[in-house]
Amino acid sequence: MLVSIGVTEDAASGRAARPGDTAGVSSNPPSDTRLPVFVITGTSGAGKGTLERALLAHLPELELAVSATTRDRRPGEVDGREYHFISNADFDERLDAEEFLEWVEFPWGQRSGTLRSEIDRISDSGRVPLLDLEPDGAIRVKKRVPNSVTIFVSAPTFAENERRLRARATESEGEIDERLDLARKQLEQADDFDHEVVNDDLERAVEEISAIVRGRLADAGTMSEP
Ligand code: 5GP
Repeated sequence: MLVSIGVTEDAASGRAARPGDTAGVSSNPPSDTRLPVFVITGTSGAGKGTLERALLAHLPELELAVSATTRDRRPGEVDGREYHFISNADFDERLDAEEFLEWVEFPWGQRSGTLRSEIDRISDSGRVPLLDLEPDGAIRVKKRVPNSVTIFVSAPTFAENERRLRARATESEGEIDERLDLARKQLEQADDFDHEVVNDDLERAVEEISAIVRGRLADAGTMSEP
């Protein structure tokens, strides 16, 4: 498969894409996408990362697509595993070369984007891409990738969302108030996605998402025998 992403609309590229904007997509020739692409999105602080790690352990068919980001590496993060950590100049070059399926710029300056090459690499290996995106990027993928399945994850209450955000606060994620404002706006987008899952209990939420994924993979004929 040369290109695994189907494009269904004209794309804009080069403009800044902040959460809340409609930009942040790049053009690419249309193509057929047979395997589903799963997108986990939700509020900042909903606990997506922990959920995804458990989901990946449950479902070997899935592989996390590693985004490119301009933010600093946090302790424990490995280049090429959590992200491809790149400079602003490198990000600009990749934008010009239309290497991103979508990308976003956060109010505190960092840019992150989904590399088409990652989706192709995973699909070409016969596995199914799992994307972790903030809601605006997830909406762009939903519009542009016909077989995408979008899952919005939220914390059980906003107070719990805030608690989780504060618990993992790092400098490279911006000021806590900015992130809380963003999380409030993101919560209003929950209805735009195919599924909403409340991350109240990790095991339960993983089961719920696994059932969604298994159902879609079974429909696509890609689910391995248990
Ligand atoms: P962090 O910088 O804390 O790892 O991630 C911040 C937010 O960026 C998370 O909500 C994550 O889902 C989102 N994100 C990570 N990579 C991408 C990407 O390539 N595109 C978009 N739109 N969002 C991303």
